[in-house]
Amino acid sequence: MEFSPYNATVIAKIMLTPDLCILRIRTDDPHPLFKAGQFTTIGLLGQEPRSQNSVPSVERIADNEMIVRSYSIASANHQTQNFEFYISQVKSGQLTPRLFNLTVGSRLWVRDTIHGIFTLNNTPEGRDIVMVATGTGLAPYISFLRSHINDHREIKLAVMHGAAYPWDLGYLSELEFISSTFENFFYFPTLLKSDDNWPGLRGYIEEHLDAQVLQKVGFQIDPEKTHFFLCGNPKMVTSVSNYLDKFGYTRHTKAKPGSLHIESW
Ligand SMILES: Cc1cc2nc3c(=O)[nH]c(=O)nc-3n(C[C@H](O)[C@H](O)[C@H](O)COP(=O)(O)OP(=O)(O)OC[C@H]3O[C@@H](n4cnc5c(N)ncnc54)[C@H](O)[C@@H]3O)c2cc1C
Repeated sequence: MEFSPYNATVIAKIMLTPDLCILRIRTDDPHPLFKAGQFTTIGLLGQEPRSQNSVPSVERIADNEMIVRSYSIASANHQTQNFEFYISQVKSGQLTPRLFNLTVGSRLWVRDTIHGIFTLNNTPEGRDIVMVATGTGLAPYISFLRSHINDHREIKLAVMHGAAYPWDLGYLSELEFISSTFENFFYFPTLLKSDDNWPGLRGYIEEHLDAQVLQKVGFQIDPEKTHFFLCGNPKMVTSVSNYLDKFGYTRHTKAKPGSLHIESW
């Protein structure tokens, strides 16, 4: 039998838009337990075909070269073999056009270790948590909520999610369900390109921070009271970091704990 480097199988692929999908995979062997918010690495060989909805990439990749990229895990932290990812296609990219061409039953490679310090574990007990994302930067928060919403009843949790159109708001119904079930959870989706049918917030996340949407539901913008998590578009990360800087927030690192946690892609 021919050797294959692949060690996982696609078990579901949910297309939210032609360039946005939820990909569920099952690894052949169990992984060690991970912490909500961490990421792993996915790979496909250069020989795998690209999706029809992509453009040729400038760089040529050899057929036998493994293309690897990191992806935040959206699954709950008790999963050891079934992993969910929330992925946007970079049409000219190397890996995502190949991932978007996979179907149920397709094989792929997944690293057997899981990494990252973008986890709730660094948040001292009793602090409220605000999770800010654009696009697929939402993935680690889905893991946070699936893993921890039940054992964080005593604090307030919020997700602020920025996207362009309503159909770009992955996990909308799951987040609305959590919001209607847990009175300590607040969901603020905001759209840049909505039409009049969208009943929710419009504009940039920063505008809603300025308009004090968080304070109106009881959050305090104070590093001693509330931890912020940022993941997604670098411009959003920079401008929300600048906003929080004015309130005395400092970035959390392994060496120096802080109340501002950033996942840079
Ligand atoms: C810790 C970590 C976690 C990550 N988690 C996720 C995740 O959950 N979901 C997800 O979709 N991605 C995630 N990423 C990004 C991912 O690793 C890849 O960079 C991305 O999927 C593009 O890969 P590619 O091979 O298709 O494009 P590449 O060939 O690597 O990139 C092509 C070019 O596109 C640019 N580019 C990269 N991402 C985007 C983008 N989103 N939109 C426009 N241009 C882009 C790059 O700067 C590069 O110049 C994560 C990255 C890190 C480091």
